[in-house]
Amino acid sequence: MKRKGDILLQSEPFVHVLSHKQRGRRCDSCFKSGENLKRCTMCKVVRYCNAMCQKEDWTSHKGECPCLKRVFPDVPLDSVWLMLKLVLKQKAGDNGQSIKNDIGWRNFSDFKSHSEEIKCDQNRTEQLSKIVFTLRKLLGDSSLPPGDKLMETFGKMVINSFTVCDGELQPIGVAIYLSPSLLDHSCEPNAVVTFQGTKLTVRAIKDIPDPSPAN
Ligand SMILES: [Zn+2]
Ligand SMILES: [Zn+2]
Repeated sequence: MKRKGDILLQSEPFVHVLSHKQRGRRCDSCFKSGENLKRCTMCKVVRYCNAMCQKEDWTSHKGECPCLKRVFPDVPLDSVWLMLKLVLKQKAGDNGQSIKNDIGWRNFSDFKSHSEEIKCDQNRTEQLSKIVFTLRKLLGDSSLPPGDKLMETFGKMVINSFTVCDGELQPIGVAIYLSPSLLDHSCEPNAVVTFQGTKLTVRAIKDIPDPSPAN
């Protein structure tokens, strides 16, 4: 039995991008606001609270840093940047830590891609071709994944992106978490999502009985 207010799950993001409106006002790693943020000296785009936040972000930033530098002073849109991060993760063979659910262990590679629905959706296919156009500039000579792979990644991104909000519910970024996708999208919500920086917390907003063993 979960009681009202209980934490159902907490998750750090698999990928996250600070909203372009917040760039320079918040840390690209932890999303906290700060006065004297330190800029990455190589790309001159991302900014951090301190060396610790920079170090924390380096595994993710080292791949994108030369890409950002390549197109500077242009800065990619949030959706393009999120896609860039996913493409780079996949190139590196990083699908995140597997999370166990009813069906078994799963990570980003097991997410449903919804490719078929996207192929039939003109707005989505146009959005994807714009993203791919910019991705090609960002990645330069290093090859883009094949079209069907990009469509798959894009589908996973569209379905699983969360808008990260601050305490006043103002959007400050976008992120993909590996565990919340396991939650059912219920018409009658029994849980609420909040954020501390980039960390997601899901809490029960009413008492939730344990599923009966007969089911
Ligand atoms: Zn920070
Ligand atoms: Zn950089």
